[in-house]
Amino acid sequence: MSTEKDLPGRLQFFPVTHIAGVIAIVVFLLIIFLLPSSSGDRRHKEQMTVSIPESATEADTQDAIQPAKRESDTIRSGDSLSVLFDRNNLSASDVIAIASAVPREALKLRPGQEISWTRTADGKVQEMDIQLSPLVSHRVTRTVDNEFAYRFDEKAAQRYPQYASATVNTSLFYDGNKAGVPEQVLINLAGIFGWDIDFALDIRKGDSFAIVYEEIWLNGEKIGNGEILAARFINQERTYSAIRYVDRLGNPSYYTPQGLSMRKEFLRNPIDFARISSRFNLRRKHPVLNKIRAHRGTDYAAPIGTPIKAAGDGKVTFAGRKGGYGNVIIIQHGARYQTLYAHMNGFHRSIRRGRKVRQGQIIGYVGTTGMSTGPHLHYEFRVDGVHRDSLKVKLPKAKPIAKVERPRFFEQARALNSVLDNIIESER
Ligand SMILES: [Zn+2]
Repeated sequence: MSTEKDLPGRLQFFPVTHIAGVIAIVVFLLIIFLLPSSSGDRRHKEQMTVSIPESATEADTQDAIQPAKRESDTIRSGDSLSVLFDRNNLSASDVIAIASAVPREALKLRPGQEISWTRTADGKVQEMDIQLSPLVSHRVTRTVDNEFAYRFDEKAAQRYPQYASATVNTSLFYDGNKAGVPEQVLINLAGIFGWDIDFALDIRKGDSFAIVYEEIWLNGEKIGNGEILAARFINQERTYSAIRYVDRLGNPSYYTPQGLSMRKEFLRNPIDFARISSRFNLRRKHPVLNKIRAHRGTDYAAPIGTPIKAAGDGKVTFAGRKGGYGNVIIIQHGARYQTLYAHMNGFHRSIRRGRKVRQGQIIGYVGTTGMSTGPHLHYEFRVDGVHRDSLKVKLPKAKPIAKVERPRFFEQARALNSVLDNIIESER
């Protein structure tokens, strides 16, 4: 796919013509360099400060000193290591030696898995990689006394920031793609701003966005997209900005540059891809009882087994059967809020009374247990013990950045925010 000759291309959105931009970028790189992270990430950052382009392959000295030609084959259905050896004219005695050198699970081969090796002068295996993913493999190397040394090999991927911006003429996805932003990144972008902007209804021609996201590279080849580090969305002339921040405990979250949370304390809908089949209505004719009875929740029609998510962080106070509710989960969120999920087919195995749950965590599955006419989720939202319309109630914002995190957050936020300014500035 991509090779290192495309590398300078990833800087094309970089507003190098602006001196302020260059300063912002230097600050940004310094910040990136200072971020605490795994040793693998740090290795990349060191490379980045030395030289950004073309370092991906040069830095991988392991491959650079590889003396012999590397061969590879892909595991087919029904293959064992000996079948693969046979097919590639490799030594049968090496199969036995390698099989006893690697852990047992390395020999459970799956179709599509890649095996690569180099040969000795007499055609035997010098070194072999049983790949688990582009980043992880089981590696054996022939030793001087003709045995095989084993090691679990984890490569450090390089993460490079990418810069892009676009104005919406057709749709976010069409124009975003045209600006070179991968679809998955656009979906994540919509997820970050989804609390403030309804991407199905609110988007207008002339809306625009700027984004800093990571690309993941290995050996000069792009292998995937990483996180969105910062983004700005201008929707109907209102500007929203989001900065990704990983706190001291390693929890990532998005905040405004002022340190307010991008998300709310509750999801508006605890289920995806469902149709609202009955709304909150204090004078509804009950479909089973056939008389006027208040409907104090929102119903979502969905197939049996559709996952149901916890609407907010909280603690499970009930998980079991309860009369007309059937299988029901009740979650307490702080002192004031309670959510209830009824008619479930079953609970997620992690759910028990007293367990803590996180917003978005799957707690169970749609069913039709209790007094129910068909598969649906009955969802209730209570504030201070009073049932409220979950579709209309004003949802509280999640907590702002913690005090102890503030200095580090604001330092990063300032740098990333000025990078966003410069991306937009360079588009004008
Ligand atoms: Zn209902």
